Amino acid sequence: MSEASKSLNFIEHIVEEDLTNGFSKEKLRFRFPPEPNGYLHIGHASSICLNFGLGLRYDAPVNLRFDDTNPAKEEQEFVDAIKKDVQWLGYRWNTERYASDYFQQLYDWAVLLIEKGKAYIESQSSEEMAFQKGTPIVPGTDSPFRNRSIEENLELFEAMKNGEYEEGTLVLRAKINMGSPNMLMRDPIMYRVLHRAHHRTNTDWCIYPMYDWTHGESDYIEQVSHSLCTLEFAMHRELYDWFLDQVYDEKSIRPKQREFARRNLSHTVVSKRKLLRLVQEGVVNGWDDPRMPTISGLRRRGYTPESIRNFADTIGIAKRDNLIDVSLLEFHAREHLNKVAPRVMGVLDPLKVVITNYPEGGEEWLEAENNPEDESAGSRKLPFSREIYIERGDFKEEANRKFFRLKLGGEVRLKNAYIIKAESCSKDGEGNITEIQCTYDLKSKSGSGTEESLRKVKGTLHWVCVKHALEAEIRIYDRLFLDESPDTHKDKDFMEFINPNALKVIKGYLEPSLKNAQIEDRVQFQRLGYFCVDPDSTPGKLVFNKTVGLRDTWTKIQQNN
Ligand code: ATP
Ligand code: MG
Repeated sequence: MSEASKSLNFIEHIVEEDLTNGFSKEKLRFRFPPEPNGYLHIGHASSICLNFGLGLRYDAPVNLRFDDTNPAKEEQEFVDAIKKDVQWLGYRWNTERYASDYFQQLYDWAVLLIEKGKAYIESQSSEEMAFQKGTPIVPGTDSPFRNRSIEENLELFEAMKNGEYEEGTLVLRAKINMGSPNMLMRDPIMYRVLHRAHHRTNTDWCIYPMYDWTHGESDYIEQVSHSLCTLEFAMHRELYDWFLDQVYDEKSIRPKQREFARRNLSHTVVSKRKLLRLVQEGVVNGWDDPRMPTISGLRRRGYTPESIRNFADTIGIAKRDNLIDVSLLEFHAREHLNKVAPRVMGVLDPLKVVITNYPEGGEEWLEAENNPEDESAGSRKLPFSREIYIERGDFKEEANRKFFRLKLGGEVRLKNAYIIKAESCSKDGEGNITEIQCTYDLKSKSGSGTEESLRKVKGTLHWVCVKHALEAEIRIYDRLFLDESPDTHKDKDFMEFINPNALKVIKGYLEPSLKNAQIEDRVQFQRLGYFCVDPDSTPGKLVFNKTVGLRDTWTKIQQNN
Protein backbone atom coordinates (compact mmCIF):
# COMPACT_ATOMS: atom_id res chain seq x y z
CA MET A 1 0.00 0.00 0.00
CA SER A 2 1.40 3.44 -0.80
CA GLU A 3 1.96 5.85 2.09
CA ALA A 4 -0.66 8.24 0.71
CA SER A 5 -3.51 5.76 0.34
CA LYS A 6 -3.42 4.41 3.88
CA SER A 7 -5.94 5.72 6.36
CA LEU A 8 -4.48 8.17 8.84
CA ASN A 9 -3.67 7.30 12.43
CA PHE A 10 -4.48 9.81 15.16
CA ILE A 11 -0.95 11.22 15.19
CA GLU A 12 -1.11 11.82 11.45
CA HIS A 13 -4.45 13.55 11.98
CA ILE A 14 -2.72 15.91 14.43
CA VAL A 15 -0.02 16.67 11.87
CA GLU A 16 -2.64 17.23 9.15
CA GLU A 17 -4.49 19.62 11.41
CA ASP A 18 -1.30 21.57 12.10
CA LEU A 19 -0.67 21.83 8.36
CA THR A 20 -4.23 23.01 7.79
CA ASN A 21 -3.71 25.64 10.48
CA GLY A 22 -0.73 27.02 8.67
CA PHE A 23 2.25 25.05 9.97
CA SER A 24 4.72 24.90 7.11
CA LYS A 25 5.31 21.44 5.69
CA GLU A 26 9.00 22.26 5.25
CA LYS A 27 9.34 22.58 9.01
CA LEU A 28 8.08 19.12 9.80
CA ARG A 29 10.79 17.14 11.51
CA PHE A 30 10.68 13.90 13.48
CA ARG A 31 13.04 11.69 15.43
CA PHE A 32 13.31 8.25 16.96
CA PRO A 33 14.94 8.68 20.39
CA PRO A 34 16.26 5.45 21.93
CA GLU A 35 18.31 5.26 25.09
CA PRO A 36 21.32 3.05 24.25
CA ASN A 37 20.84 0.81 27.26
CA GLY A 38 19.65 -2.33 25.50
CA TYR A 39 18.62 -3.76 22.16
CA LEU A 40 15.50 -2.66 20.32
CA HIS A 41 12.43 -4.83 20.67
CA ILE A 42 9.17 -5.32 18.80
CA GLY A 43 7.56 -2.50 20.83
CA HIS A 44 10.20 -0.09 19.53
CA ALA A 45 9.35 -1.20 16.01
CA SER A 46 5.99 0.56 16.40
CA SER A 47 7.69 3.79 17.37
CA ILE A 48 10.25 3.44 14.56
CA CYS A 49 7.54 2.77 11.96
CA LEU A 50 5.50 5.68 13.28
CA ASN A 51 8.31 8.26 13.20
CA PHE A 52 10.00 7.10 10.02
CA GLY A 53 6.58 6.52 8.45
CA LEU A 54 5.75 10.19 9.10
CA GLY A 55 9.05 11.16 7.54
CA LEU A 56 8.18 9.21 4.40
CA ARG A 57 4.61 10.46 4.24
CA TYR A 58 5.62 14.13 4.51
CA ASP A 59 9.04 13.86 2.96
CA ALA A 60 10.43 15.26 6.20
CA PRO A 61 13.75 14.55 7.93
CA VAL A 62 13.83 12.00 10.74
CA ASN A 63 16.76 11.99 13.12
CA LEU A 64 18.04 8.98 14.99
CA ARG A 65 18.81 10.47 18.36
CA PHE A 66 20.39 8.58 21.18
CA ASP A 67 19.26 9.90 24.55
CA ASP A 68 22.52 8.90 26.14
CA THR A 69 22.33 10.54 29.56
CA ASN A 70 23.18 7.57 31.74
CA PRO A 71 26.74 6.28 31.33
CA ALA A 72 26.11 3.75 34.08
CA LYS A 73 23.83 1.74 31.79
CA GLU A 74 24.79 2.73 28.28
CA GLU A 75 27.27 1.18 25.91
CA GLN A 76 28.57 1.51 22.38
CA GLU A 77 27.43 -2.07 21.73
CA PHE A 78 23.84 -0.90 22.14
CA VAL A 79 24.34 2.12 19.87
CA ASP A 80 25.71 -0.16 17.14
CA ALA A 81 22.92 -2.70 17.55
CA ILE A 82 20.22 -0.01 17.41
CA LYS A 83 21.65 1.49 14.23
CA LYS A 84 21.87 -1.91 12.60
CA ASP A 85 18.29 -2.74 13.53
CA VAL A 86 16.78 0.52 12.30
CA GLN A 87 18.62 0.12 9.00
CA TRP A 88 17.62 -3.49 8.71
CA LEU A 89 13.98 -2.50 9.18
CA GLY A 90 14.52 -0.45 6.04
CA TYR A 91 14.67 3.10 7.36
CA ARG A 92 17.25 5.81 6.70
CA TRP A 93 17.73 8.62 9.17
CA ASN A 94 18.50 12.18 8.30
CA THR A 95 21.30 12.60 10.85
CA GLU A 96 22.58 10.58 13.74
CA ARG A 97 22.42 12.66 16.88
CA TYR A 98 23.28 12.19 20.51
CA ALA A 99 21.93 14.03 23.51
CA SER A 100 25.56 13.99 24.66
CA ASP A 101 26.31 16.36 21.75
CA TYR A 102 24.26 18.86 23.71
CA PHE A 103 25.85 18.44 27.14
CA GLN A 104 27.53 21.85 26.93
CA GLN A 105 24.35 23.60 25.77
CA LEU A 106 22.34 21.86 28.51
CA TYR A 107 24.91 22.90 31.07
CA ASP A 108 24.81 26.51 29.87
CA TRP A 109 21.03 26.52 30.07
CA ALA A 110 21.18 25.06 33.57
CA VAL A 111 23.46 27.95 34.58
CA LEU A 112 20.90 30.30 33.05
CA LEU A 113 18.16 28.74 35.15
CA ILE A 114 20.25 29.16 38.28
CA GLU A 115 20.85 32.79 37.35
CA LYS A 116 17.13 33.31 36.93
CA GLY A 117 16.53 31.80 40.36
CA LYS A 118 14.83 28.77 38.78
CA ALA A 119 17.22 26.06 39.91
CA TYR A 120 19.19 25.34 43.06
CA ILE A 121 21.73 22.96 44.50
CA GLU A 122 20.36 20.41 46.91
CA SER A 123 22.62 19.03 49.66
CA GLN A 124 20.23 16.58 51.25
CA SER A 125 20.37 12.84 50.76
CA SER A 126 18.06 11.16 48.30
CA GLU A 127 16.14 9.62 51.24
CA GLU A 128 15.45 13.05 52.68
CA MET A 129 14.36 14.33 49.29
CA ALA A 130 12.07 11.37 48.79
CA PHE A 131 10.53 11.95 52.20
CA GLN A 132 9.85 15.62 51.47
CA LYS A 133 8.39 14.85 48.06
CA GLY A 134 4.98 14.03 49.55
CA THR A 135 2.46 11.78 47.85
CA PRO A 136 -0.05 12.39 45.08
CA ILE A 137 -2.49 13.59 47.72
CA VAL A 138 -0.06 15.10 50.23
CA PRO A 139 1.87 18.13 48.96
CA GLY A 140 5.64 18.07 49.31
CA THR A 141 7.66 20.35 51.59
CA ASP A 142 10.32 22.79 50.51
CA SER A 143 13.93 21.81 50.88
CA PRO A 144 15.94 23.86 53.38
CA PHE A 145 18.32 24.55 50.48
CA ARG A 146 15.63 25.88 48.18
CA ASN A 147 16.55 29.47 48.86
CA ARG A 148 20.31 29.24 48.62
CA SER A 149 21.77 32.37 47.04
CA ILE A 150 22.27 32.43 43.29
CA GLU A 151 26.01 32.98 43.81
CA GLU A 152 26.35 29.94 46.06
CA ASN A 153 24.32 27.84 43.64
CA LEU A 154 26.54 28.89 40.73
CA GLU A 155 29.67 28.14 42.69
CA LEU A 156 28.50 24.73 43.84
CA PHE A 157 27.30 23.78 40.36
CA GLU A 158 30.65 24.64 38.91
CA ALA A 159 32.41 22.68 41.65
CA MET A 160 30.15 19.71 40.89
CA LYS A 161 31.12 19.97 37.26
CA ASN A 162 34.80 20.18 38.17
CA GLY A 163 34.62 16.89 39.98
CA GLU A 164 34.92 18.26 43.49
CA TYR A 165 31.95 16.29 44.79
CA GLU A 166 31.31 12.62 45.29
CA GLU A 167 28.40 10.77 43.72
CA GLY A 168 25.24 11.11 45.77
CA THR A 169 26.28 14.33 47.47
CA LEU A 170 24.87 17.28 45.50
CA VAL A 171 22.21 17.52 42.81
CA LEU A 172 20.81 20.42 40.85
CA ARG A 173 17.04 20.78 41.18
CA ALA A 174 14.60 22.87 39.21
CA LYS A 175 12.72 25.26 41.46
CA ILE A 176 9.13 24.72 40.39
CA ASN A 177 6.47 23.89 42.94
CA MET A 178 6.62 21.40 45.82
CA GLY A 179 2.85 21.67 46.15
CA SER A 180 2.04 20.78 42.54
CA PRO A 181 -0.53 18.01 42.08
CA ASN A 182 1.87 16.65 39.46
CA MET A 183 4.64 14.99 41.47
CA LEU A 184 7.06 15.45 38.58
CA MET A 185 6.80 19.22 39.07
CA ARG A 186 7.98 19.02 42.68
CA ASP A 187 11.45 20.41 42.12
CA PRO A 188 12.75 17.58 39.90
CA ILE A 189 16.44 16.77 39.68
CA MET A 190 18.21 18.17 36.62
CA TYR A 191 21.80 17.04 37.26
CA ARG A 192 23.57 14.45 39.35
CA VAL A 193 27.24 13.71 39.98
CA LEU A 194 28.45 10.55 38.25
CA HIS A 195 32.14 9.75 38.08
CA ARG A 196 31.72 7.53 35.10
CA ALA A 197 33.25 7.48 31.66
CA HIS A 198 30.65 8.04 28.97
CA HIS A 199 30.79 6.00 25.76
CA ARG A 200 31.11 9.22 23.74
CA THR A 201 32.26 12.06 25.99
CA ASN A 202 34.58 9.81 27.97
CA THR A 203 35.62 11.58 31.20
CA ASP A 204 34.82 15.12 30.03
CA TRP A 205 31.90 15.28 32.41
CA CYS A 206 31.36 14.10 35.94
CA ILE A 207 27.88 15.54 36.16
CA TYR A 208 25.19 14.21 33.87
CA PRO A 209 21.82 15.73 32.96
CA MET A 210 18.70 13.75 33.87
CA TYR A 211 16.61 12.26 31.07
CA ASP A 212 13.67 14.60 31.76
CA TRP A 213 15.85 17.69 31.50
CA THR A 214 17.58 16.38 28.39
CA HIS A 215 14.90 14.81 26.26
CA GLY A 216 12.61 17.76 25.61
CA GLU A 217 15.46 20.23 25.27
CA SER A 218 17.19 17.94 22.75
CA ASP A 219 14.02 17.87 20.66
CA TYR A 220 14.01 21.64 20.82
CA ILE A 221 17.68 21.90 19.82
CA GLU A 222 16.96 19.66 16.83
CA GLN A 223 13.84 21.64 16.05
CA VAL A 224 11.72 18.53 16.05
CA SER A 225 8.19 19.64 15.17
CA HIS A 226 6.32 16.66 16.61
CA SER A 227 7.82 14.98 19.60
CA LEU A 228 6.11 11.62 19.87
CA CYS A 229 6.46 9.41 22.88
CA THR A 230 4.64 6.69 24.75
CA LEU A 231 1.83 7.29 27.22
CA GLU A 232 3.91 7.09 30.36
CA PHE A 233 5.30 10.49 29.38
CA ALA A 234 1.91 12.21 29.38
CA MET A 235 2.54 13.44 32.93
CA HIS A 236 6.01 14.61 31.92
CA ARG A 237 4.57 16.95 29.32
CA GLU A 238 3.91 19.68 31.88
CA LEU A 239 7.52 19.47 33.06
CA TYR A 240 8.96 19.50 29.53
CA ASP A 241 6.81 22.54 28.83
CA TRP A 242 8.16 24.28 31.89
CA PHE A 243 11.75 23.47 30.89
CA LEU A 244 11.06 24.75 27.37
CA ASP A 245 9.54 27.96 28.66
CA GLN A 246 12.86 28.76 30.33
CA VAL A 247 14.89 28.69 27.13
CA TYR A 248 12.32 29.16 24.37
CA ASP A 249 13.00 31.69 21.66
CA GLU A 250 9.86 32.93 19.88
CA LYS A 251 11.41 32.52 16.45
CA SER A 252 12.06 28.82 16.93
CA ILE A 253 9.82 25.84 16.62
CA ARG A 254 8.38 24.56 19.83
CA PRO A 255 8.16 20.78 19.64
CA LYS A 256 4.64 19.50 20.10
CA GLN A 257 4.59 16.46 22.35
CA ARG A 258 1.93 13.84 21.76
CA GLU A 259 1.65 10.43 23.38
CA PHE A 260 0.66 7.08 21.96
CA ALA A 261 0.18 3.70 23.61
CA ARG A 262 3.00 1.24 24.21
CA ARG A 263 2.66 -1.98 22.30
CA ASN A 264 2.84 -5.16 24.29
CA LEU A 265 3.13 -8.58 22.74
CA SER A 266 1.60 -11.69 24.29
CA HIS A 267 3.74 -14.46 25.80
CA THR A 268 6.76 -12.22 26.14
CA VAL A 269 8.03 -9.06 27.82
CA VAL A 270 8.91 -5.84 26.04
CA SER A 271 10.98 -3.85 28.47
CA LYS A 272 14.71 -3.53 28.06
CA ARG A 273 15.20 -3.93 31.79
CA LYS A 274 13.41 -7.27 31.79
CA LEU A 275 15.05 -8.43 28.59
CA LEU A 276 18.41 -7.58 30.15
CA ARG A 277 17.57 -9.89 33.04
CA LEU A 278 16.86 -12.73 30.62
CA VAL A 279 20.29 -12.15 29.08
CA GLN A 280 22.18 -11.67 32.34
CA GLU A 281 20.60 -14.62 34.09
CA GLY A 282 21.35 -16.87 31.15
CA VAL A 283 17.73 -17.74 30.36
CA VAL A 284 18.55 -16.98 26.72
CA ASN A 285 21.83 -16.91 24.81
CA GLY A 286 22.12 -13.16 24.34
CA TRP A 287 20.01 -10.29 23.05
CA ASP A 288 19.70 -11.86 19.62
CA ASP A 289 18.52 -15.24 20.85
CA PRO A 290 15.69 -16.26 18.47
CA ARG A 291 13.37 -16.63 21.45
CA MET A 292 13.74 -12.93 22.26
CA PRO A 293 11.22 -10.31 21.05
CA THR A 294 14.15 -8.09 20.09
CA ILE A 295 14.53 -6.97 16.48
CA SER A 296 17.84 -8.83 16.35
CA GLY A 297 16.24 -11.96 17.83
CA LEU A 298 13.43 -11.83 15.29
CA ARG A 299 15.94 -11.33 12.47
CA ARG A 300 17.91 -14.36 13.61
CA ARG A 301 14.71 -16.32 13.93
CA GLY A 302 14.00 -15.61 10.25
CA TYR A 303 11.53 -12.74 10.32
CA THR A 304 11.75 -10.36 7.37
CA PRO A 305 11.80 -6.57 7.85
CA GLU A 306 8.67 -6.42 5.68
CA SER A 307 6.78 -8.73 8.02
CA ILE A 308 7.66 -6.58 11.03
CA ARG A 309 6.67 -3.39 9.24
CA ASN A 310 3.41 -4.95 8.07
CA PHE A 311 2.72 -6.08 11.62
CA ALA A 312 3.33 -2.56 12.95
CA ASP A 313 1.11 -1.15 10.22
CA THR A 314 -1.71 -3.55 10.97
CA ILE A 315 -1.77 -2.88 14.70
CA GLY A 316 -1.44 0.85 14.05
CA ILE A 317 -1.07 3.53 16.67
CA ALA A 318 -3.39 3.45 19.66
CA LYS A 319 -4.33 5.78 22.48
CA ARG A 320 -4.57 3.04 25.08
CA ASP A 321 -2.09 0.38 26.12
CA ASN A 322 -2.95 -3.02 24.81
CA LEU A 323 -1.73 -6.54 24.32
CA ILE A 324 -1.25 -7.87 20.82
CA ASP A 325 -1.35 -11.61 20.32
CA VAL A 326 1.98 -12.96 19.09
CA SER A 327 0.10 -15.06 16.52
CA LEU A 328 -0.59 -11.84 14.59
CA LEU A 329 3.15 -11.27 14.29
CA GLU A 330 3.53 -14.88 13.15
CA PHE A 331 0.74 -14.37 10.63
CA HIS A 332 2.70 -11.55 9.03
CA ALA A 333 5.91 -13.57 8.98
CA ARG A 334 4.11 -16.42 7.25
CA GLU A 335 2.35 -14.13 4.80
CA HIS A 336 5.57 -12.54 3.59
CA LEU A 337 7.70 -15.68 3.69
CA ASN A 338 5.10 -17.45 1.59
CA LYS A 339 5.90 -14.98 -1.18
CA VAL A 340 9.66 -14.93 -0.90
CA ALA A 341 10.94 -18.14 0.66
CA PRO A 342 12.10 -20.87 -1.75
CA ARG A 343 10.54 -24.28 -1.14
CA VAL A 344 12.88 -27.07 -0.20
CA MET A 345 12.55 -30.46 1.46
CA GLY A 346 13.83 -31.57 4.80
CA VAL A 347 12.88 -34.47 7.03
CA LEU A 348 13.07 -33.83 10.75
CA ASP A 349 11.98 -37.18 12.14
CA PRO A 350 13.23 -39.66 9.56
CA LEU A 351 11.90 -43.08 8.67
CA LYS A 352 13.71 -44.97 5.93
CA VAL A 353 11.83 -46.09 2.83
CA VAL A 354 13.38 -48.68 0.48
CA ILE A 355 11.93 -48.70 -3.02
CA THR A 356 12.36 -52.34 -3.82
CA ASN A 357 11.71 -52.15 -7.58
CA TYR A 358 14.13 -49.23 -8.07
CA PRO A 359 17.46 -50.35 -9.56
CA GLU A 360 20.11 -51.04 -6.97
CA GLY A 361 22.80 -48.29 -7.17
CA GLY A 362 20.59 -46.26 -9.50
CA GLU A 363 20.11 -42.53 -9.12
CA GLU A 364 18.42 -39.71 -11.02
CA TRP A 365 17.96 -35.96 -10.66
CA LEU A 366 14.43 -34.63 -10.74
CA GLU A 367 13.22 -31.14 -11.52
CA ALA A 368 11.61 -29.20 -8.66
CA GLU A 369 9.96 -25.80 -8.72
CA ASN A 370 11.46 -23.33 -6.22
CA ASN A 371 8.39 -21.30 -5.42
CA PRO A 372 4.86 -21.80 -6.77
CA GLU A 373 4.12 -18.20 -5.65
CA ASP A 374 6.94 -16.79 -7.71
CA GLU A 375 7.71 -18.14 -11.17
CA SER A 376 10.90 -16.11 -11.40
CA ALA A 377 12.35 -18.19 -8.55
CA GLY A 378 13.11 -20.93 -11.10
CA SER A 379 13.73 -24.57 -10.35
CA ARG A 380 16.39 -26.90 -8.99
CA LYS A 381 17.42 -30.54 -9.20
CA LEU A 382 16.65 -33.14 -6.57
CA PRO A 383 18.40 -36.50 -6.33
CA PHE A 384 16.24 -39.61 -6.12
CA SER A 385 17.34 -43.18 -5.50
CA ARG A 386 16.37 -46.47 -3.93
CA GLU A 387 16.49 -45.24 -0.31
CA ILE A 388 14.74 -42.16 0.92
CA TYR A 389 13.60 -40.68 4.21
CA ILE A 390 10.06 -39.65 4.91
CA GLU A 391 8.66 -38.22 8.11
CA ARG A 392 7.93 -40.89 10.72
CA GLY A 393 4.52 -39.34 11.33
CA ASP A 394 3.62 -39.79 7.68
CA PHE A 395 3.36 -43.57 7.93
CA LYS A 396 0.96 -45.86 9.75
CA GLU A 397 0.63 -49.58 9.30
CA GLU A 398 -3.11 -49.23 9.42
CA ALA A 399 -5.26 -46.17 9.31
CA ASN A 400 -8.77 -45.09 8.43
CA ARG A 401 -9.81 -43.45 5.17
CA LYS A 402 -9.14 -39.97 6.46
CA PHE A 403 -5.43 -40.63 6.80
CA PHE A 404 -4.09 -39.27 3.51
CA ARG A 405 -0.52 -40.20 4.17
CA LEU A 406 1.15 -43.54 3.70
CA LYS A 407 -0.28 -46.82 5.05
CA LEU A 408 0.34 -50.43 4.17
CA GLY A 409 -1.26 -51.17 0.82
CA GLY A 410 -1.82 -47.45 0.20
CA GLU A 411 -0.32 -45.01 -2.25
CA VAL A 412 1.05 -41.49 -1.94
CA ARG A 413 2.91 -39.16 -4.24
CA LEU A 414 6.40 -38.15 -3.28
CA LYS A 415 6.63 -34.43 -4.00
CA ASN A 416 8.29 -33.76 -7.37
CA ALA A 417 8.86 -37.50 -7.84
CA TYR A 418 6.85 -40.71 -8.11
CA ILE A 419 3.82 -42.41 -6.67
CA ILE A 420 4.87 -45.11 -4.23
CA LYS A 421 2.93 -47.91 -2.60
CA ALA A 422 3.77 -49.30 0.86
CA GLU A 423 4.11 -53.08 0.68
CA SER A 424 5.58 -54.03 4.07
CA CYS A 425 7.59 -52.72 6.99
CA SER A 426 10.28 -53.93 9.39
CA LYS A 427 10.40 -53.45 13.16
CA ASP A 428 12.98 -53.62 15.92
CA GLY A 429 12.69 -55.79 19.04
CA GLU A 430 10.46 -53.22 20.74
CA GLY A 431 8.03 -53.01 17.88
CA ASN A 432 9.25 -49.67 16.52
CA ILE A 433 9.09 -49.39 12.76
CA THR A 434 12.59 -49.19 11.33
CA GLU A 435 12.00 -49.32 7.61
CA ILE A 436 9.21 -49.40 5.05
CA GLN A 437 9.44 -51.36 1.84
CA CYS A 438 7.65 -49.72 -1.07
CA THR A 439 7.31 -50.09 -4.82
CA TYR A 440 7.17 -47.13 -7.17
CA ASP A 441 5.25 -46.54 -10.36
CA LEU A 442 7.92 -45.67 -12.91
CA LYS A 443 5.45 -43.96 -15.22
CA SER A 444 4.09 -41.63 -12.55
CA LYS A 445 7.10 -39.30 -12.56
CA SER A 446 5.99 -35.71 -11.82
CA GLY A 447 6.00 -33.41 -14.80
CA SER A 448 6.66 -36.24 -17.30
CA GLY A 449 3.31 -35.65 -19.01
CA THR A 450 2.25 -39.31 -18.99
CA GLU A 451 -1.24 -40.32 -17.97
CA GLU A 452 0.20 -41.87 -14.82
CA SER A 453 2.05 -38.65 -13.93
CA LEU A 454 -1.32 -36.91 -13.79
CA ARG A 455 -2.90 -39.68 -11.75
CA LYS A 456 -4.35 -38.28 -8.56
CA VAL A 457 -3.60 -39.85 -5.22
CA LYS A 458 -4.84 -38.31 -2.01
CA GLY A 459 -1.58 -37.55 -0.24
CA THR A 460 1.70 -35.91 -1.18
CA LEU A 461 4.69 -36.36 1.08
CA HIS A 462 8.00 -34.55 1.35
CA TRP A 463 11.11 -36.73 1.35
CA VAL A 464 14.88 -36.65 1.11
CA CYS A 465 17.23 -39.05 -0.65
CA VAL A 466 19.26 -40.89 2.02
CA LYS A 467 22.51 -40.96 0.10
CA HIS A 468 22.53 -37.21 -0.60
CA ALA A 469 20.92 -35.96 2.60
CA LEU A 470 22.65 -33.14 4.43
CA GLU A 471 22.60 -33.47 8.16
CA ALA A 472 21.76 -30.22 9.90
CA GLU A 473 21.02 -28.98 13.39
CA ILE A 474 17.48 -27.72 13.64
CA ARG A 475 16.37 -25.44 16.45
CA ILE A 476 12.66 -25.43 17.13
CA TYR A 477 11.16 -22.69 19.25
CA ASP A 478 8.12 -22.27 21.36
CA ARG A 479 6.81 -19.24 23.30
CA LEU A 480 9.38 -17.94 25.76
CA PHE A 481 6.72 -17.57 28.45
CA LEU A 482 3.88 -19.88 29.38
CA ASP A 483 1.69 -16.99 30.45
CA GLU A 484 0.06 -14.55 28.07
CA SER A 485 1.27 -11.48 29.98
CA PRO A 486 3.96 -12.69 32.36
CA ASP A 487 4.78 -9.27 33.78
CA THR A 488 1.32 -8.26 34.89
CA HIS A 489 0.95 -10.55 37.91
CA LYS A 490 0.97 -8.71 41.19
CA ASP A 491 2.63 -11.28 43.40
CA LYS A 492 4.73 -13.12 40.87
CA ASP A 493 7.95 -12.28 39.14
CA PHE A 494 7.72 -12.62 35.35
CA MET A 495 10.65 -15.07 35.49
CA GLU A 496 8.38 -17.63 37.13
CA PHE A 497 6.55 -18.05 33.83
CA ILE A 498 9.54 -18.96 31.68
CA ASN A 499 8.80 -21.85 29.36
CA PRO A 500 11.64 -24.33 30.01
CA ASN A 501 10.94 -26.02 26.67
CA ALA A 502 11.07 -22.95 24.48
CA LEU A 503 14.05 -24.40 22.60
CA LYS A 504 14.33 -27.91 21.24
CA VAL A 505 17.35 -28.99 19.21
CA ILE A 506 17.00 -31.86 16.77
CA LYS A 507 18.83 -33.34 13.82
CA GLY A 508 17.34 -32.87 10.38
CA TYR A 509 18.05 -34.39 6.94
CA LEU A 510 17.91 -31.88 4.13
CA GLU A 511 18.01 -31.97 0.35
CA PRO A 512 21.53 -31.29 -0.97
CA SER A 513 20.62 -28.04 -2.76
CA LEU A 514 20.94 -26.40 0.66
CA LYS A 515 24.63 -27.17 0.84
CA ASN A 516 25.63 -23.62 0.04
CA ALA A 517 22.90 -21.88 2.02
CA GLN A 518 24.08 -18.63 3.51
CA ILE A 519 23.50 -17.21 6.97
CA GLU A 520 20.08 -15.52 7.15
CA ASP A 521 18.79 -17.38 4.07
CA ARG A 522 15.14 -18.19 4.57
CA VAL A 523 13.37 -21.23 3.14
CA GLN A 524 10.17 -23.18 3.49
CA PHE A 525 10.67 -26.81 4.41
CA GLN A 526 7.62 -28.09 2.61
CA ARG A 527 4.78 -29.19 4.87
CA LEU A 528 6.80 -28.17 7.96
CA GLY A 529 7.26 -24.44 8.12
CA TYR A 530 9.68 -21.61 7.47
CA PHE A 531 13.29 -21.90 8.52
CA CYS A 532 16.31 -19.62 8.47
CA VAL A 533 20.05 -20.30 8.49
CA ASP A 534 21.56 -19.39 11.87
CA PRO A 535 24.91 -17.57 12.21
CA ASP A 536 26.17 -20.52 14.27
CA SER A 537 26.41 -22.47 11.00
CA THR A 538 29.88 -23.50 9.87
CA PRO A 539 31.01 -24.68 6.42
CA GLY A 540 30.63 -28.28 7.56
CA LYS A 541 27.43 -27.94 9.51
CA LEU A 542 24.28 -25.99 8.86
CA VAL A 543 22.13 -24.77 11.72
CA PHE A 544 18.54 -23.79 10.98
CA ASN A 545 16.07 -21.91 13.15
CA LYS A 546 12.41 -22.57 12.73
CA THR A 547 10.74 -19.21 12.15
CA VAL A 548 7.07 -20.25 12.13
CA GLY A 549 4.99 -23.23 11.19
CA LEU A 550 2.70 -23.23 8.18
CA ARG A 551 -0.53 -23.28 10.06
CA ASP A 552 -2.17 -19.96 10.70
CA THR A 553 -3.37 -19.69 14.27
CA TRP A 554 -4.21 -16.00 14.00
CA THR A 555 -7.10 -16.35 11.56
CA LYS A 556 -8.44 -19.13 13.72
CA ILE A 557 -8.38 -16.87 16.77
CA GLN A 558 -10.23 -14.23 14.78
CA GLN A 559 -12.88 -16.69 13.63
CA ASN A 560 -13.50 -17.92 17.16
CA ASN A 561 -14.01 -14.41 18.47
P1 ATP B 1 11.91 0.02 27.74
O1 ATP B 1 10.75 0.13 28.64
O2 ATP B 1 11.89 -1.22 26.91
O3 ATP B 1 13.23 0.23 28.42
P2 ATP B 1 12.06 2.68 26.77
O4 ATP B 1 10.83 3.45 26.51
O5 ATP B 1 12.85 3.09 27.96
O6 ATP B 1 11.71 1.17 26.69
P3 ATP B 1 13.61 3.94 24.77
O7 ATP B 1 14.92 3.53 24.23
O8 ATP B 1 13.56 5.14 25.62
O9 ATP B 1 13.02 2.71 25.55
O10 ATP B 1 12.54 4.03 23.61
C1 ATP B 1 12.70 4.75 22.41
C2 ATP B 1 11.36 5.09 21.87
O11 ATP B 1 10.58 3.92 21.67
C3 ATP B 1 10.57 5.96 22.84
O12 ATP B 1 9.92 6.98 22.12
C4 ATP B 1 9.59 5.00 23.45
O13 ATP B 1 8.46 5.68 23.87
C5 ATP B 1 9.33 4.02 22.31
N1 ATP B 1 8.92 2.72 22.83
C6 ATP B 1 9.54 1.97 23.75
N2 ATP B 1 8.85 0.85 24.03
C7 ATP B 1 7.74 0.88 23.25
C8 ATP B 1 6.62 0.00 23.07
N3 ATP B 1 6.49 -1.13 23.76
N4 ATP B 1 5.67 0.37 22.18
C9 ATP B 1 5.80 1.50 21.48
N5 ATP B 1 6.82 2.36 21.60
C10 ATP B 1 7.79 2.07 22.47
MG1 MG C 1 13.00 5.44 27.79
